[in-house]
Amino acid sequence: MSKTSHHQRSTKRSVQHDHSACIQTALSRAEKRCAEDGERFTGLRRQVLELVWAEHKPAKAYDLLATLSSIRSGVAPTTVYRTLDFLQERGLVHKIESLNAYVGCSQPDTEHNGHFLICEACSEIKEIENSEVSSWLERAAQAENFKIRSETVELMGLCFRCQPEKEKRAAS
Ligand SMILES: [Zn+2]
Ligand SMILES: [Zn+2]
Ligand SMILES: [Zn+2]
Repeated sequence: MSKTSHHQRSTKRSVQHDHSACIQTALSRAEKRCAEDGERFTGLRRQVLELVWAEHKPAKAYDLLATLSSIRSGVAPTTVYRTLDFLQERGLVHKIESLNAYVGCSQPDTEHNGHFLICEACSEIKEIENSEVSSWLERAAQAENFKIRSETVELMGLCFRCQPEKEKRAAS
């Protein structure tokens, strides 16, 4: 497996990036975040976050529950949902509403809304952060006297790898 940095441009992120580093970073950030909030990063919270981070793909709550039940006994569905809520409130995971699934957040330390590119072929999700989009949406909502409760932008399509060769146009 190549040790190519996964910090390079997203479109070129290789399938074989060092994903264990992604997981380790996510876990240590979560631990820090919980400590700052005076919350315990319990074994269950760690396990759920680790499972959400298993891939850069949406994790469905019932799949998480099934996996958890196989590695620890007596996990109630409500416990898993509560744990996911907890992680979501701390910005450690995002909920992908259209898929009713969760994905780990790569920048939990910065205040932001979830903007996602979701590949319909391989399910890979890439989080993109753009504050201009947020402020534009805010102005648009304000013009309608609409009060935003939550903001999630989900773009469905094909990632670079999944596009047919002849249609590929790499970002310059
Ligand atoms: Zn990764
Ligand atoms: Zn995020
Ligand atoms: Zn894809």
